[in-house]
Amino acid sequence: MSTTIRIAAAVAALTGAPAIATEGHPHAAPRTPPEQRAQQEKCGHGVQKSLCTRCNPKLSAVYKAKGDWCAEHERPESQCAPCHPELAKKGVK
Ligand SMILES: [Zn+2]
Ligand SMILES: [Zn+2]
Repeated sequence: MSTTIRIAAAVAALTGAPAIATEGHPHAAPRTPPEQRAQQEKCGHGVQKSLCTRCNPKLSAVYKAKGDWCAEHERPESQCAPCHPELAKKGVK
């Protein structure tokens, strides 16, 4: 009886254990795929680079057309940290 158990344990050690050891936590892969992370890359203003009107002045027309514009601070209302302190907390400048 005990021999059977020892063999079973040995087989488990040979087959299961190494696989678990290597597949346990594949070096903390980020959830967002690389291409999405590139899109979400922040510019010096703390907003998505591709959506920043201060980096891409041409975008301001798009935001103005949408009605998302703060004339006082010359940036989209949705990116206006002076008007929206919660954005400043997120790192928007
Ligand atoms: Zn910017
Ligand atoms: Zn504003």
